[in-house]
Amino acid sequence: NRKFVLAQRPKGEPDDNTLRLETEDVATPGKGQMLLRNEYLSLDPYMRGRMSDAPSYAASVEIGAVMVGGTVAQVMSSDVDGFAAGDWVQAFGGWQDYAPSDGTGVINMGKSPENPSWALGVLGMPGLTAWAGLTQIGQPKAGETLVVAGASGPVGATVGQIAKILGLHVVGIAGGPRKCAHVTGTLGFDACIDYKADGFPNALKAALPDGIDIYFENVGGAVFDAVLPLLNTSARIPVCGLISQYNATALPDGPDRMNLLLGKILRKRMTMRGFIVFDDFGHLYPEFAKQMGEWVKDGKVQYREEMIDGLERAPSAFVGLLKGDAFGKRVIKLTA
Ligand code: NDP
Repeated sequence: NRKFVLAQRPKGEPDDNTLRLETEDVATPGKGQMLLRNEYLSLDPYMRGRMSDAPSYAASVEIGAVMVGGTVAQVMSSDVDGFAAGDWVQAFGGWQDYAPSDGTGVINMGKSPENPSWALGVLGMPGLTAWAGLTQIGQPKAGETLVVAGASGPVGATVGQIAKILGLHVVGIAGGPRKCAHVTGTLGFDACIDYKADGFPNALKAALPDGIDIYFENVGGAVFDAVLPLLNTSARIPVCGLISQYNATALPDGPDRMNLLLGKILRKRMTMRGFIVFDDFGHLYPEFAKQMGEWVKDGKVQYREEMIDGLERAPSAFVGLLKGDAFGKRVIKLTA
């Protein structure tokens, strides 16, 4: 079994000393356990938080322990009720080839699921995040305007497409013309603004003559500075992620903008609410899975995946993910 363990907590961006590849014998599953062979490993921004020991909503990975991660796996052998050899499952098997499991938190996908890796994206955690954050906190109404950044990524792309289905005007924010062309052309957003281009705040303002009713927050940083003046009375802001800050070692330079934000929340009677997907909305998973499964089958929600071969490439692929190198959902394929 090859596995990546956390060797050192990174300061800023993870580097070559952060993770260490180790090899060991494949574990023999005990009574009441099954052995999973990981086929696909999901790379997700939250993993940066698990590498740190800063206070968070979830426990850090211990030094020397295998790096956590969502996986799609095949059952090799099983002594767990409801699971048999050959079943495909959704699990949290981590950055390794094999994982023993007692079945806790494992979802059985049957013997031959279509597109099994999609359970790590649009049909899984990122999809639920998009759907629940938008519907439960965003409270979308037809005719309103929604803005979402990371618009070509798994969460942002799904947020915008659901909002289009619900009859909203949708403006995405993404890095570069290629991603923006995908966001409008394939995903069907009404517009997409390139936050890396000169004059981004003005371009965003020009694209939003009626302001913003829902800002689905994925990134924070300079993007939020440009969004803040455009928010309408009674705007809702589901605070999902702040990826621009995940590698930061200090607060950004510049004037303190806390009172600007609080003043705006007060005058515009805005609602900002953070959420952690499984803690807050895990109970909605069955409803989500049914609805999203239909939308994907009917072609109403498009999904782009970026498959990378080989466990050994996971660390560099993860560092790139935080920097915007991914174009679609980044997944590591573990088996040949
Ligand atoms: P993405 O693939 O969208 O994340 C990577 C993207 O983030 C990059 O491609 C890049 O977009 C964007 N990005 C990175 N740095 C910056 C920056 N400085 N300014 C603007 N954009 C930046 O990931 P996901 O779709 O998986 O997740 C989106 C967000 O949702 C993340 O913040 C994540 O932590 C959060 N999340 C929260 C959950 C919760 O329970 N609260 C659950 C799941 C996700 P581009 O390529 O356009 O440059």
